[in-house]
Amino acid sequence: MKEKLTKAEEREFAQELVQKIGELAATTGRKLRFMEVCGTHTVAIFRAGLRQMLPETVELVSGPGCPVCVTPDDYMDKAIAYAQRDDVIIATFGDMLKVPGSKSSLNEAKTGGADIRIVYSPMDSIAIAKDNPDKKVIFLAVGFETTAPTAAATVLAAEQQGITNLFMLSAQKLVPPVMEVLLNDEEVHVDGFILPGHVSVVTGTGVYKPVIEKYHVPGVVTGFEPVQILRGLYRLVQQVVKGEAKVENEYTDVVKPEGNPVSMAITNKVYEPCDTGWRGMGVVPLSGLKMRDEYARFDIEEVLPVEVETITKKTACRCGEVLRGIVTPKECPLFGKACVPTHAIGPCMVSVEGVCAAWYKYGQGRFAYGK
Ligand code: SF4
Ligand code: SF4
Repeated sequence: MKEKLTKAEEREFAQELVQKIGELAATTGRKLRFMEVCGTHTVAIFRAGLRQMLPETVELVSGPGCPVCVTPDDYMDKAIAYAQRDDVIIATFGDMLKVPGSKSSLNEAKTGGADIRIVYSPMDSIAIAKDNPDKKVIFLAVGFETTAPTAAATVLAAEQQGITNLFMLSAQKLVPPVMEVLLNDEEVHVDGFILPGHVSVVTGTGVYKPVIEKYHVPGVVTGFEPVQILRGLYRLVQQVVKGEAKVENEYTDVVKPEGNPVSMAITNKVYEPCDTGWRGMGVVPLSGLKMRDEYARFDIEEVLPVEVETITKKTACRCGEVLRGIVTPKECPLFGKACVPTHAIGPCMVSVEGVCAAWYKYGQGRFAYGK
């Protein structure tokens, strides 16, 4: 294929790929189900209308790919409890304000007078800490392997600059352990994974190998263009047909097998794996990152522990099942009625990378690729 395709060529190529995927999938005599575990893939798939283009024998389901969506209630309850202290400034990405905790949200805390600042990078919280030496500045470190190096670099920069009033409330998460949980879940059925592009830029492709081989389920790393995703899907179907289960890379321009060793080294210097809670999946062993003892003074939960009572809400929100790919948002009774992006009931409707938000925006396939 030449370097850059025109839109018309791209459309034609996509349609050819869809046909090849359909023909090959038909040889298995059953329906194949593939899961993307990256919120940007979810949005890219919807934006291009790929679900609608594929034959009925190939189904795409979304998994726990959005860091905001998988952050559980008790983390939000802690963030709100810290926010309500007079001596604290919370620094956070904007999406987190609307995520419900078990009783309220950061938005409500802000309306009640809490000092909550929106930042675009963890590094922005350093300036806030310098400008407010009498306050504890807490950055809400939420994300996957992609964001962990920047959070870790912020801690290292704070250490180097002698900043003593900057802390992290960490909910960093790792993708491979949660893939294993999904594969052990009897309600979840997947024939292969579309592996995340951005996470893999940092981690490389080797991190998925143990789980892919142990459960004999194929995985392909892809980019975010419709044709790249379809090429990844074709390789997944090929593996299923051949009875193979390996990690393949359809994003070789960007993702190297070894990932980004510099970023990984920064993350590993500051963090170590720990058990952590995921919305809808409970506590998953070694699926999170906590600060090593040498950096514990930057961990607000070590420095200033907070007790919260997280209540189990009675709600019709089905985020927990949506995140495991067991139900689609349309099966939630609140979808598009009580729960819309401007009034989100659950976190999957809050973030632009959330599955419910993507269904709401693109679910009718009105931007279907190829039309
Ligand atoms: S952080 Fe990157 S890899 Fe993770 S969901 Fe977002 S875009 Fe995908
Ligand atoms: S539509 Fe709203 S209430 Fe229903 S599962 Fe999604 S986020 Fe939860």
